Amino acid sequence: MGGGLSGLTLAYLLSKQNIGATILEASSRLGGRIQTATGTLETPLELGATWFSDVHQNLCTLIDELGLKKFEQFSKGKSLFQTKSFEPPQEFFVPESQSPSYRIVDGTQTLINTLANQLDNENIKLNTKVATITNLGNELELETSNEQKLQADKVVLCLPPQLVGSRIQFFPGLPNSVSTVLPIVQTWMAGSIKFVLEYDNHFWRNNGYSGMLFSHSGIVSEMHDHTNAEENKFGFTGFLNGGTISYSQEIRKEFVLRQLAEFLGSEVLNYSSYSDKVWADEFIMSKNQTILRPHQNNGNPLLQNSYMNDKLLFSGTETATEFAGYMEGAINSALRVYEQIKSSSNGK
Ligand SMILES: Cc1cc2nc3c(=O)[nH]c(=O)nc-3n(C[C@H](O)[C@H](O)[C@H](O)COP(=O)(O)OP(=O)(O)OC[C@H]3O[C@@H](n4cnc5c(N)ncnc54)[C@H](O)[C@@H]3O)c2cc1C
Repeated sequence: MGGGLSGLTLAYLLSKQNIGATILEASSRLGGRIQTATGTLETPLELGATWFSDVHQNLCTLIDELGLKKFEQFSKGKSLFQTKSFEPPQEFFVPESQSPSYRIVDGTQTLINTLANQLDNENIKLNTKVATITNLGNELELETSNEQKLQADKVVLCLPPQLVGSRIQFFPGLPNSVSTVLPIVQTWMAGSIKFVLEYDNHFWRNNGYSGMLFSHSGIVSEMHDHTNAEENKFGFTGFLNGGTISYSQEIRKEFVLRQLAEFLGSEVLNYSSYSDKVWADEFIMSKNQTILRPHQNNGNPLLQNSYMNDKLLFSGTETATEFAGYMEGAINSALRVYEQIKSSSNGK
């Protein structure tokens, strides 16, 4: 359950071995922390996961296998670093990297859509939020928040462990050691705010800027050029200061435009579309979330085990022992569970 990158990768791997799997997704869309919006000029604009590099080998392999393409993040020209609100930003140049950051051509959502297209549509159930999981002995019974009941030989929890701990009830309950660890596994990027701005040209490049900005004092804390691979659609994407979570989107937009216009000139105001997303809804955040260190308890050994007589497993990026939190971690966790399922079905 969970129709993010981990759940979809696992279902794809299983389908290649003719092992049937159904995706139960709580929200009305697939992708989870991957969400590419489309601007009014049809620019793919990332509200969620965007960048990866050559060290993310399983992601790069999956992209190749699915016939998708990657391209380098643009970073040439003057970049800006703002330390204080009352001083002009410092300019710096990013040296050409031997290990560049990449993006997926046409947007990260293409990876999700391509995986979903490999699956039977009937096996993807949206708006299906699992609320309870009961061990019936020879199978597990899942009950959704709208009281639908489903049975399964195995259930793989492909969602942040914190959400599992706060939103799903188990009968009988999970071992104490597991229930104690679930609320203290940090969910990567929960509570973050990502924004996107779309333009009909890349005026900043024409003026010698890379579009990269880091700030300790403005609403935009980090920003990058978001021009597409073909360089015919233009924009920025980046992160906003978490303190602005309680502002309306309109107010956040005003602050963003003001900060950027100060640095990059009045052309900033000629935008085609603005959007932002606060990643704090029920599909990523648990109730009464405690503040944890980044990646705290990610890859915890208890999350590698199976429960309920080998019928319940944990996947999802936070369970990965390498690159937890990132897209690579989501794929790593799916590969681990795939091997676990394969070896237990061979042993039958
Ligand atoms: C703003 C932002 C920026 C990011 N940037 C990057 C980046 O640049 N590079 C990178 O590598 N990674 C990045 N990440 C992280 C990356 O998005 C994640 O590592 C990856 O997408 C996680 O996939 P997942 O399948 O493990 O979990 P998720 O994507 O969280 O999927 C879990 C799914 O489970 C569903 N669900 C929740 N509760 C239930 C329930 N009760 N029943 C059924 N379904 C349920 C959710 O709706 C969701 O679809 C970013 C994330 C965010 C939010």
